[in-house]
Amino acid sequence: MKELQKYREKDFSFSNGRILGSMCTQPHPIAKKTYIEFLETNLGDPDLFPGSKEIELKYIDFLLKMINAPGTASGIIGSGGTENNLNAVWLSKKISGKKEIIIPANAHFSFEKIASLMDVKLVEIPLTKNYFMDITRVKKKITKNTACIVGIAGSTELGTIDPIPELSDICIDEHVFLHVDAAFGGFVIPFLKQLGYTVKDFDFILPGVSSISIDAHKMGCSAIPLGVLLVRDKRWLDKISVNTPYLNSSNQAGLLATRSGGPIAAAYAVSRHLGFEGYKKLVKKCMNVTEYAKMKIEEIGLKLVVKPTMNILGVKVKNPERLVKCLTEQGWKVNRMDRLSAVRIVVMPHVTKKTIDLFIPDLKKACKTTGEI
Ligand code: PLP
Repeated sequence: MKELQKYREKDFSFSNGRILGSMCTQPHPIAKKTYIEFLETNLGDPDLFPGSKEIELKYIDFLLKMINAPGTASGIIGSGGTENNLNAVWLSKKISGKKEIIIPANAHFSFEKIASLMDVKLVEIPLTKNYFMDITRVKKKITKNTACIVGIAGSTELGTIDPIPELSDICIDEHVFLHVDAAFGGFVIPFLKQLGYTVKDFDFILPGVSSISIDAHKMGCSAIPLGVLLVRDKRWLDKISVNTPYLNSSNQAGLLATRSGGPIAAAYAVSRHLGFEGYKKLVKKCMNVTEYAKMKIEEIGLKLVVKPTMNILGVKVKNPERLVKCLTEQGWKVNRMDRLSAVRIVVMPHVTKKTIDLFIPDLKKACKTTGEI
């Protein structure tokens, strides 16, 4: 234990608030407690763990309610956004028998892995000046080989949202599978709407949306690893299912076999503890801190890449590498985004106004040292 402690001390921790560039956060206390309780459970063998299986179905139901799913919908639980995207591409490929995936230029790098692994071609759509998919170019890129169009609802770099209603219309007209990657935004956008922010629809309320990815280990505030792929029609899951001859259950959908029930029980516990109202409060708090951080950052003479849509800030800088290095030396972790010449700050629930008040003087000093201001 002493040896382990030595290594752990080298890690950053969410608890001191100095991680400003992660889409994960300190797991809710109830998630930690529950995770341990369910440590030995294995949802790859639900015959042994029928209680944990029930929890899984209840958690999927919670998410389906959050995103206006029809009664036909269902989902598969996996390790996170990468696996959700993989299962979605796999599904669209099986349904269509085709191999081209249309993605926006800012899609998460998981699609590059998926293309390499699954032998599909990525067709990239450039972004508008506001950093979302240029919808005017999508129709021209649809061919007889198109299996799927991907829209992002909460981009990894800037939290921007693609025009999902327009993509939905296109996908209905063209009979194409529409996957919405809401790994980050899935737990934000529904509550932004309720809080009065102007955001477009992104979920199953749009008839063209076929699947949605949401991660509990991001704004779901639960423990790593947990992502969920939700699909409009539960029968589709048969397309990515195999028989499990030597298990007492009959078949299994999605990529994984053995998978811990710990993160699932943890996420369910958080959902029961917070409920939709609790998540709404968290989003409200994160958005208030985001506004505050924006104001403080602009006060020191820096500019944002784009007005924040959600709790992610892209700050324009001349030399992201140099600034990030300087901030790391002062104990702060922000992300460099070289292709945008910017740094990223993700205002997760562990980031408070107090954190921002501590950060801003250090940011100012680092910007002076590196010649940013
Ligand atoms: N999709 C989006 C929009 C993301 O922001 C991320 C991670 O940041 C992913 C997918 C990949 O998620 P994970 O790291 O959980 O595999």
